[in-house]
Amino acid sequence: MNSIEKLTEYFSKFPGIGPRQAKRFVYFLLTRNNGFLNEFTGLIKQLKQDIKICRSCFRFYPASAAGGQYSADNSELCAICSNPNRDNDILMVVGKDADLENIERIGNYNGLYFVLGVYIPILEKTPEQFIRIEKFLTLIQKKAAGGELKEIILALSLNPEGENTIEYLLEKLKPLAEKYSIKISTLGRGLSTGTELEYSDSETFKNAFKNRN
Ligand SMILES: [Zn+2]
Repeated sequence: MNSIEKLTEYFSKFPGIGPRQAKRFVYFLLTRNNGFLNEFTGLIKQLKQDIKICRSCFRFYPASAAGGQYSADNSELCAICSNPNRDNDILMVVGKDADLENIERIGNYNGLYFVLGVYIPILEKTPEQFIRIEKFLTLIQKKAAGGELKEIILALSLNPEGENTIEYLLEKLKPLAEKYSIKISTLGRGLSTGTELEYSDSETFKNAFKNRN
């Protein structure tokens, strides 16, 4: 396999990128100068050092960002989780970082988050391998036992995989919700079926948030 084929194979692994588009990326890179290529590969090499994952909400955030605080076990909290002005009795569960960023940009939510990472595919037999369910339940247990948690909002896109994930989470959360009287809500139908939270505009999201049930 030559370099064009190998790189094409890598780009094909990116979300939503097919082999033809992947090959276009490779030819695009071939037309760039060395300065561009060096900066590009340097950024990729540094990515995992520069970006950290929050130990509470599991979002990615720049290690240099203000607000990163060391906790007792020396792992870090992001600027949202370490902000004392956020409401810590309400937790919003989102599928991915881009959803969280969009909700932050809209700006009417002041609680905390948990990022699942991905949605559970339909008919998946081992959902626990797809999402951070153990870490999620541990966090909920800890917050609930400390009397902090009053509501969990499942803010997932209403596509088949999102609905599948909501169903799974509801089942897993039921015992904790009953034990600690935590309200579990999902976003209202203002978010039409298939709407990606990542792209929803502020009015749509605000309505869905207000009409959560
Ligand atoms: Zn965080």
